Amino acid sequence: MRYVSTRGGAEPLDFEGVTLAGLASDGGLYLPESWPGFSNDEIAAMRGLPYAELATRVMMPFVGDSLTQAELRDLCERAYGRFAHAAVTPLTQLDERHWLLELFHGPTLAFKDVALQLLGRLFETFLARRDTPLTIVGATSGDTGSAAIDAVAGRENVEIFMLHPAGRVSDVQRRQMTTVLAPNVHNIAIDGSFDDAQAMVKRMFADPALTGTLNIGAVNSINWARLMAQVVYYFAAALQLGGPERRVAFSVPTGNFGDVFAGYVAARMGLPIERLIVATNVNDILHRALSDGDYSAGEVTPTAAPSMDIQVSSNFERLLFDTGGRDGSALATQMQGFEADRAMRLTKAQREGATGLFGSARADADAMSGAMRWAHEQCGEIVDPHTAIGLHAARTAEIDPDVPMVTLATAHPAKFRDAVERATGSRPLLPARVGDLFGREERFTNLPGDYDMVRDFVVENAAGSRG
Ligand SMILES: *Cc1c(COP(=O)(O)O)cnc(C)c1O
Repeated sequence: MRYVSTRGGAEPLDFEGVTLAGLASDGGLYLPESWPGFSNDEIAAMRGLPYAELATRVMMPFVGDSLTQAELRDLCERAYGRFAHAAVTPLTQLDERHWLLELFHGPTLAFKDVALQLLGRLFETFLARRDTPLTIVGATSGDTGSAAIDAVAGRENVEIFMLHPAGRVSDVQRRQMTTVLAPNVHNIAIDGSFDDAQAMVKRMFADPALTGTLNIGAVNSINWARLMAQVVYYFAAALQLGGPERRVAFSVPTGNFGDVFAGYVAARMGLPIERLIVATNVNDILHRALSDGDYSAGEVTPTAAPSMDIQVSSNFERLLFDTGGRDGSALATQMQGFEADRAMRLTKAQREGATGLFGSARADADAMSGAMRWAHEQCGEIVDPHTAIGLHAARTAEIDPDVPMVTLATAHPAKFRDAVERATGSRPLLPARVGDLFGREERFTNLPGDYDMVRDFVVENAAGSRG
């Protein structure tokens, strides 16, 4: 399997290459050159498999020659063996129509563990072959950081620099990052928003002062391997609800458009998906883009669902590329226009390609609390603010009522205890697997929102720890 950049100006790479590269050298994102597909019979034959085996079958076409099937299976068994639930991503029924796909049974209580536990092991496997160290730089609105740090802490040949917006992640999220004291982990709190942090990380990938001396890798959802791992649970859920014979709809709490893009990939591979609903909070650039073609970034408004407080959704570029005829040079021009103006219109092909499968909805704070109360009072389930936004979108979507509607439960409610308590009056307990989070020492560096200072910090500390 070969991977091409959405901006058409980087050499195609194999799976090992894209996993270690993250962002393409032309500023684009990697996608498979063509989509592998499964027939309905092949999909039906996956019903009832253990999660690690299902993951191996769904992902193998993307891995190509980079791993044998036995190697991939072994990595999946180790990654998913760390989950607290034997089903890894169990489905919970809410009412006759609505289901929750619980993606938060990993070590850091958010869906990002599903992909990052695998990615950490992919890094280790590929780096051992090359014997070159990897310096990961990433930006987090909370959950990526903790999941990535858990996945790479203490691993050989990897070092991680994780930027988070100071004061804009929850206490639990911050402590899950800053109490990991492994010497290969560097936490940086920057003054600014998540978008500011993400823009700095993107700039580092194109900065010769870094790329000239360090081998830079990505754990954000710009990394293809993450999206690939997330495709699996769409298959898992659909198979349980009668797929592939029966179509299933999904509502996805969305920030960087990674998780919902994985659903799009599942559909491109042949999984019969009725609709993918992109659920946003008041930071609604994606809702505006999908409903009237206006992709224009406003200011970020902080909300109780911080992992969705994003105005520029990196992975949307992948959808624009795939629906817009896969014309890398045209997309490069379009994206450069967006980067200059912070606004652009989708082309007709891009809009039509997207609206065939995607719907969208926006939930403000009241709608979010209302969904949390509905789940609690009517179904006896406590959901986190991100999941609540997905649930609101699911309940308001105009979809054939015979189609099962699955809301992706992207975080454990205890990760956002204060918001949950405000809405429901009930304070969720942290599961025992996170340990004594509030008794542990924290370590992080505060830096101003100044690119040069952040870059210099990375250069100095990466060089320092390598001796
Ligand atoms: C990261 C995250 C999201 C957004 O996912 P994207 O892949 O960035 O769209 C939603 N909810 C939670 C809890 C998250 O951690």
